[in-house]
Amino acid sequence: MFIEPDLGRKARTGWIEVISGCMFSGKTEELIRRLKRAHIARQKVEIFKPAMDTRYHEADVVSHNANSIRSTPIYSPQEMFLWTGDCDVVGIDEAQFLDESIVEVSVKLANSGKRIIIAGLDMDYEGKPFGCMPALMAVAEFVTKVHAVCAICGSIASYSYRLIPGKEKILLGETESYEARCRRCFNLGPKAVKGVS
Ligand code: ADP
Ligand code: MG
Repeated sequence: MFIEPDLGRKARTGWIEVISGCMFSGKTEELIRRLKRAHIARQKVEIFKPAMDTRYHEADVVSHNANSIRSTPIYSPQEMFLWTGDCDVVGIDEAQFLDESIVEVSVKLANSGKRIIIAGLDMDYEGKPFGCMPALMAVAEFVTKVHAVCAICGSIASYSYRLIPGKEKILLGETESYEARCRRCFNLGPKAVKGVS
Protein backbone atom coordinates (compact mmCIF):
# COMPACT_ATOMS: atom_id res chain seq x y z
CA MET A 1 0.00 0.00 0.00
CA PHE A 2 1.18 3.51 -0.81
CA ILE A 3 2.15 5.52 2.29
CA GLU A 4 1.68 9.26 1.91
CA PRO A 5 5.16 10.81 2.24
CA ASP A 6 4.12 13.95 4.07
CA LEU A 7 0.55 13.69 5.25
CA GLY A 8 -0.30 15.94 8.16
CA ARG A 9 1.70 19.04 7.49
CA LYS A 10 1.63 21.79 4.91
CA ALA A 11 4.10 20.78 2.25
CA ARG A 12 7.33 22.75 1.92
CA THR A 13 7.95 21.12 -1.42
CA GLY A 14 5.43 19.77 -3.91
CA TRP A 15 5.53 16.46 -5.76
CA ILE A 16 3.65 14.39 -8.33
CA GLU A 17 2.11 10.94 -7.78
CA VAL A 18 0.75 8.84 -10.65
CA ILE A 19 -1.68 5.95 -10.18
CA SER A 20 -1.90 3.90 -13.35
CA GLY A 21 -3.16 0.58 -14.68
CA CYS A 22 -5.90 -0.93 -16.86
CA MET A 23 -9.66 -0.51 -16.50
CA PHE A 24 -11.14 -1.92 -13.25
CA SER A 25 -7.68 -1.94 -11.62
CA GLY A 26 -8.73 0.37 -8.78
CA LYS A 27 -7.15 3.64 -9.94
CA THR A 28 -10.14 5.77 -8.98
CA GLU A 29 -10.58 3.87 -5.71
CA GLU A 30 -6.92 4.53 -4.80
CA LEU A 31 -7.17 8.18 -5.88
CA ILE A 32 -10.26 8.67 -3.68
CA ARG A 33 -8.52 6.89 -0.78
CA ARG A 34 -5.53 9.25 -0.89
CA LEU A 35 -7.68 12.38 -1.35
CA LYS A 36 -10.03 11.49 1.51
CA ARG A 37 -7.05 10.93 3.84
CA ALA A 38 -5.57 14.30 2.86
CA HIS A 39 -8.97 15.89 3.57
CA ILE A 40 -9.11 14.20 6.99
CA ALA A 41 -5.63 15.66 7.64
CA ARG A 42 -7.28 19.08 7.06
CA GLN A 43 -5.52 19.75 3.80
CA LYS A 44 -7.34 21.70 1.14
CA VAL A 45 -8.11 19.34 -1.73
CA GLU A 46 -9.33 20.05 -5.28
CA ILE A 47 -10.31 17.29 -7.71
CA PHE A 48 -10.63 17.48 -11.48
CA LYS A 49 -11.67 15.22 -14.30
CA PRO A 50 -11.97 15.74 -18.06
CA ALA A 51 -15.40 17.19 -18.88
CA MET A 52 -15.88 14.53 -21.57
CA ASP A 53 -15.90 11.67 -19.02
CA THR A 54 -19.53 11.67 -17.96
CA ARG A 55 -20.03 7.91 -17.63
CA TYR A 56 -21.34 7.97 -14.08
CA HIS A 57 -21.84 11.58 -13.09
CA GLU A 58 -21.35 15.06 -14.56
CA ALA A 59 -19.24 16.31 -11.65
CA ASP A 60 -18.36 13.49 -9.25
CA VAL A 61 -15.42 11.14 -9.60
CA VAL A 62 -16.99 7.69 -9.13
CA SER A 63 -15.23 4.31 -8.90
CA HIS A 64 -16.63 1.00 -10.14
CA ASN A 65 -17.51 0.09 -6.58
CA ALA A 66 -19.57 3.29 -6.32
CA ASN A 67 -17.22 5.23 -4.04
CA SER A 68 -17.35 8.90 -5.05
CA ILE A 69 -15.92 12.35 -4.43
CA ARG A 70 -16.98 15.81 -5.67
CA SER A 71 -14.91 17.06 -8.63
CA THR A 72 -14.71 19.90 -11.13
CA PRO A 73 -14.98 18.90 -14.80
CA ILE A 74 -12.38 20.65 -16.98
CA TYR A 75 -11.97 21.03 -20.73
CA SER A 76 -8.32 22.05 -20.58
CA PRO A 77 -5.57 21.48 -17.95
CA GLN A 78 -4.96 25.27 -17.71
CA GLU A 79 -8.36 25.63 -16.02
CA MET A 80 -6.82 24.02 -12.93
CA PHE A 81 -4.83 27.20 -12.21
CA LEU A 82 -8.14 29.02 -11.61
CA TRP A 83 -9.23 26.62 -8.85
CA THR A 84 -6.03 25.66 -7.06
CA GLY A 85 -4.65 28.96 -5.71
CA ASP A 86 -4.81 28.08 -2.01
CA CYS A 87 -5.08 24.31 -2.13
CA ASP A 88 -2.53 21.77 -0.83
CA VAL A 89 -3.52 18.70 -2.82
CA VAL A 90 -4.72 18.43 -6.43
CA GLY A 91 -6.37 15.20 -7.66
CA ILE A 92 -6.99 14.39 -11.33
CA ASP A 93 -8.87 11.33 -12.60
CA GLU A 94 -8.94 9.90 -16.15
CA ALA A 95 -5.90 12.02 -17.00
CA GLN A 96 -5.30 10.06 -20.23
CA PHE A 97 -8.14 12.06 -21.81
CA LEU A 98 -6.44 15.41 -21.15
CA ASP A 99 -4.06 17.00 -23.66
CA GLU A 100 -0.26 17.01 -23.29
CA SER A 101 -0.27 20.38 -21.52
CA ILE A 102 -1.31 18.46 -18.38
CA VAL A 103 2.40 17.62 -17.97
CA GLU A 104 3.54 21.25 -17.87
CA VAL A 105 0.58 22.31 -15.71
CA SER A 106 1.22 19.48 -13.21
CA VAL A 107 4.92 20.38 -12.99
CA LYS A 108 4.07 24.06 -12.39
CA LEU A 109 1.57 23.18 -9.67
CA ALA A 110 4.04 20.81 -8.00
CA ASN A 111 6.78 23.45 -8.25
CA SER A 112 4.51 25.83 -6.37
CA GLY A 113 4.48 23.41 -3.40
CA LYS A 114 1.37 21.34 -4.08
CA ARG A 115 0.92 17.58 -3.97
CA ILE A 116 -0.48 16.40 -7.31
CA ILE A 117 -2.15 12.97 -7.54
CA ILE A 118 -2.96 11.82 -11.06
CA ALA A 119 -4.91 8.67 -12.01
CA GLY A 120 -5.15 7.44 -15.58
CA LEU A 121 -4.95 4.51 -17.98
CA ASP A 122 -1.39 3.56 -18.88
CA MET A 123 -2.42 1.79 -22.11
CA ASP A 124 -5.24 2.04 -24.64
CA TYR A 125 -7.33 -0.93 -25.85
CA GLU A 126 -4.52 -1.92 -28.25
CA GLY A 127 -1.99 -2.12 -25.44
CA LYS A 128 -0.23 1.09 -26.57
CA PRO A 129 0.88 3.85 -24.16
CA PHE A 130 -2.02 6.26 -23.68
CA GLY A 131 -1.51 9.96 -24.57
CA CYS A 132 0.05 12.05 -21.82
CA MET A 133 0.46 9.18 -19.32
CA PRO A 134 4.04 8.11 -20.20
CA ALA A 135 5.26 11.72 -19.84
CA LEU A 136 3.40 12.13 -16.55
CA MET A 137 5.03 8.97 -15.20
CA ALA A 138 8.43 10.36 -16.21
CA VAL A 139 8.04 13.60 -14.24
CA ALA A 140 6.37 12.00 -11.20
CA GLU A 141 8.20 11.31 -7.93
CA PHE A 142 5.93 8.32 -7.26
CA VAL A 143 4.34 5.90 -9.74
CA THR A 144 1.96 3.20 -8.53
CA LYS A 145 0.80 0.51 -10.96
CA VAL A 146 -2.42 -1.14 -9.86
CA HIS A 147 -3.90 -4.30 -11.39
CA ALA A 148 -7.27 -5.89 -12.05
CA VAL A 149 -8.33 -9.55 -12.15
CA CYS A 150 -8.31 -11.15 -15.62
CA ALA A 151 -11.94 -11.70 -16.66
CA ILE A 152 -10.91 -14.89 -18.51
CA CYS A 153 -8.47 -16.76 -16.25
CA GLY A 154 -8.28 -14.85 -12.97
CA SER A 155 -4.58 -13.91 -13.28
CA ILE A 156 -3.25 -10.44 -12.61
CA ALA A 157 -4.58 -8.16 -15.38
CA SER A 158 -2.86 -5.13 -16.94
CA TYR A 159 -4.77 -4.78 -20.20
CA SER A 160 -8.16 -3.30 -21.12
CA TYR A 161 -9.66 -5.59 -23.77
CA ARG A 162 -12.34 -4.06 -25.99
CA LEU A 163 -15.29 -6.41 -26.41
CA ILE A 164 -17.08 -4.50 -29.16
CA PRO A 165 -15.41 -3.64 -32.47
CA GLY A 166 -14.31 -0.12 -33.40
CA LYS A 167 -11.04 1.61 -34.17
CA GLU A 168 -11.51 4.90 -32.31
CA LYS A 169 -9.08 5.29 -29.40
CA ILE A 170 -11.71 6.72 -27.09
CA LEU A 171 -14.87 4.75 -26.53
CA LEU A 172 -16.53 5.59 -23.24
CA GLY A 173 -17.98 2.49 -21.78
CA GLU A 174 -18.01 0.02 -19.01
CA THR A 175 -18.41 -3.70 -18.48
CA GLU A 176 -20.36 -4.10 -21.71
CA SER A 177 -17.53 -2.56 -23.78
CA TYR A 178 -14.32 -3.62 -22.01
CA GLU A 179 -12.92 -6.29 -19.74
CA ALA A 180 -9.65 -6.56 -17.81
CA ARG A 181 -7.28 -9.22 -19.13
CA CYS A 182 -3.84 -10.58 -18.32
CA ARG A 183 -1.10 -10.38 -20.96
CA ARG A 184 -1.76 -13.90 -22.28
CA CYS A 185 -5.55 -13.64 -22.58
CA PHE A 186 -5.22 -10.14 -24.07
CA ASN A 187 -2.93 -11.54 -26.78
CA LEU A 188 -5.30 -14.48 -27.41
CA GLY A 189 -7.98 -11.89 -28.24
CA PRO A 190 -11.30 -13.42 -29.33
CA LYS A 191 -9.77 -16.92 -29.03
CA ALA A 192 -9.61 -16.63 -25.23
CA VAL A 193 -12.43 -18.62 -23.68
CA LYS A 194 -13.47 -18.39 -20.04
CA GLY A 195 -12.43 -21.45 -18.09
CA VAL A 196 -10.48 -22.92 -21.07
CA SER A 197 -7.44 -20.71 -21.75
P1 ADP B 1 -10.46 2.03 -12.35
O1 ADP B 1 -10.56 3.48 -11.95
O2 ADP B 1 -9.04 1.52 -12.40
O3 ADP B 1 -11.22 1.70 -13.61
P2 ADP B 1 -12.17 1.59 -10.04
O4 ADP B 1 -11.41 2.13 -8.87
O5 ADP B 1 -13.25 2.45 -10.60
O6 ADP B 1 -11.13 1.15 -11.19
O7 ADP B 1 -12.86 0.21 -9.67
C1 ADP B 1 -12.19 -0.85 -9.05
C2 ADP B 1 -13.27 -1.86 -8.60
O8 ADP B 1 -13.84 -2.46 -9.76
C3 ADP B 1 -12.78 -3.03 -7.80
O9 ADP B 1 -12.65 -2.74 -6.44
C4 ADP B 1 -13.89 -4.05 -8.02
O10 ADP B 1 -14.96 -3.82 -7.12
C5 ADP B 1 -14.43 -3.71 -9.41
N1 ADP B 1 -14.08 -4.66 -10.48
C6 ADP B 1 -14.90 -4.97 -11.53
N2 ADP B 1 -14.28 -5.83 -12.38
C7 ADP B 1 -13.04 -6.07 -11.89
C8 ADP B 1 -11.91 -6.87 -12.31
N3 ADP B 1 -11.94 -7.59 -13.44
N4 ADP B 1 -10.80 -6.87 -11.55
C9 ADP B 1 -10.77 -6.14 -10.39
N5 ADP B 1 -11.78 -5.38 -9.94
C10 ADP B 1 -12.92 -5.31 -10.67
MG1 MG C 1 -11.35 5.12 -12.89
